[in-house]
Amino acid sequence: MQKVVIIGGGVAGLSAGIFAQMNGFNSVILEKHHTPGGECTGWDRQRYHIDGCIHWLVGTKEGTAMHDLWVTLGALDGVECYHPDSFMTVEQDGVEVNLYRDLDKLQSSWITISPQDTETINDFCATIRKLQSFQIGVAKPLDMMNIVEKIRYFASMKDAGAVMQKYGKIALTQYAERFKHPALRRTLAEFVPDGYSASSIFFALATFTQGQASIPSGGSKAMALRMVDRYLEFGGQIETRCEIAELVHERGQVQRVVAKDGRSFSGDHFVAACDPKVLFHDLLDDGYSDKAFEMRYQNQKDYPLASNIYIGLGYEGTMNGIPRTLRFPVEPIKILQTSINNVQLTHYGYEPNFAPARNTVLTVAINQFADECDAWLELAKHNEAYKHEKARIGEAVRQSIIQRFPEMAGKLQVLDVASPATYNRYCNAHRGAFMAFLPTTTGKPMAHNGRIKGLRNLHLSGQWLQPPGGLPVAAVTGKDTIQRICKDQRRPFTMGTSHH
Ligand SMILES: Cc1cc2nc3c(=O)[nH]c(=O)nc-3n(C[C@H](O)[C@H](O)[C@H](O)COP(=O)(O)OP(=O)(O)OC[C@H]3O[C@@H](n4cnc5c(N)ncnc54)[C@H](O)[C@@H]3O)c2cc1C
Repeated sequence: MQKVVIIGGGVAGLSAGIFAQMNGFNSVILEKHHTPGGECTGWDRQRYHIDGCIHWLVGTKEGTAMHDLWVTLGALDGVECYHPDSFMTVEQDGVEVNLYRDLDKLQSSWITISPQDTETINDFCATIRKLQSFQIGVAKPLDMMNIVEKIRYFASMKDAGAVMQKYGKIALTQYAERFKHPALRRTLAEFVPDGYSASSIFFALATFTQGQASIPSGGSKAMALRMVDRYLEFGGQIETRCEIAELVHERGQVQRVVAKDGRSFSGDHFVAACDPKVLFHDLLDDGYSDKAFEMRYQNQKDYPLASNIYIGLGYEGTMNGIPRTLRFPVEPIKILQTSINNVQLTHYGYEPNFAPARNTVLTVAINQFADECDAWLELAKHNEAYKHEKARIGEAVRQSIIQRFPEMAGKLQVLDVASPATYNRYCNAHRGAFMAFLPTTTGKPMAHNGRIKGLRNLHLSGQWLQPPGGLPVAAVTGKDTIQRICKDQRRPFTMGTSHH
């Protein structure tokens, strides 16, 4: 039986492993950390569970191809989902703006806030409606489609293509200027980090309003562990605490990989489901650089990476009536060289097992970009200063929440502060990135087939291969890799399982 060796046990690695087992390969997943899951994870602090990932999972709508894929992977098989009413609620100058799941309600509530923006709001919602039929491609990667399949695929992307053409080159901040009401303007402008193209909000809201982006019960870590169970059920093998440090190749074929502790794993096919920078820079010693990635790594302006400061808080109380995700203005909080003037607070009141009874766990995410990430990586080398800075930011955020919700005083504690250095340390994430290259108005979307020029039996999988990254792309590209290997080996490929 041919052997597939997979470096990285995140969602992409687990997906590759499950499809390898389903398609008659023998496989092993080698994971650096003590738990598989990669960035799709959560952690316990005191009596609370902090969910570190899923704010929305594309593919939660039954009857769609993406949902079927998650079911096959064990991620959503028989799992209830929580369907929030609103993606986010934004408070601004005494006005509350909601990004409702019900698009008619979103439209009418925005018109009530700003009748003078009616035409712009109608146009905004019409574009979202037009995109609601958009589905992420699952069955086959583009490079494996025949001409008829390609024609069908591009025909199905007609509306998406039109929206990209119209809004892909306009920054969301610039698009937001079309709205006269300051609360609507700021809601849109601050929906995604500066520099994102306006198209991102249309795709995000089209997905959310078609009911395709809810939250699986039990959260991120439970979902990753269900995928681990599925992989093990299919006979897969996982080695944890196994960081691969060397990739041995000869005459265009990878022979084996070697872990930091000296363990060696040989195989017929190798899948790098780790951060691509780890593959190109560390494992291949920059000897097999890839043009598509190098060009992007060297041009941070057009291809920015985002990381996070992620603060977990425990509240001895319930959040009844408070929206799941709320953004509100705060007194400026200094973060390294910059400062923030609003806080985005998410609570997990819908998850009974994340906190003791009548208590709630909360998180606050603060995006960090290039220079900030580098500064965090530098700071993390100085343990005391790093700890001090994280604690200072955590406390400032706690105070700003209490200012907004005075009833929380004395009942709110900071549980944990993760920084870009945390993602780098745990997942080897380059610059702590938690999403692939951001869709800016000047960058070209990535479309990578995962093949590594010059090394025939090595493939790359993961969220980096196609926009917009995130969990669905990780899952799809893990599957795509095994599909490509089957094609190379002239063997049939199966997507289905008896679990359906
Ligand atoms: C705070 C946060 C919120 C997010 N929210 C969402 C969301 O709401 N929806 C969504 O779709 N996505 C979300 N994401 C993004 C999502 O988590 C990622 O897109 C996805 O988990 C990436 O999966 P991956 O398998 O491609 O990579 P990773 O998860 O990075 O997995 C790579 C794995 O490889 C391992 N590894 C690295 N180097 C080595 C080595 N040398 N040897 C062995 N193992 C190695 C790492 O430890 C890791 O386990 C979020 C991420 C974060 C951090």
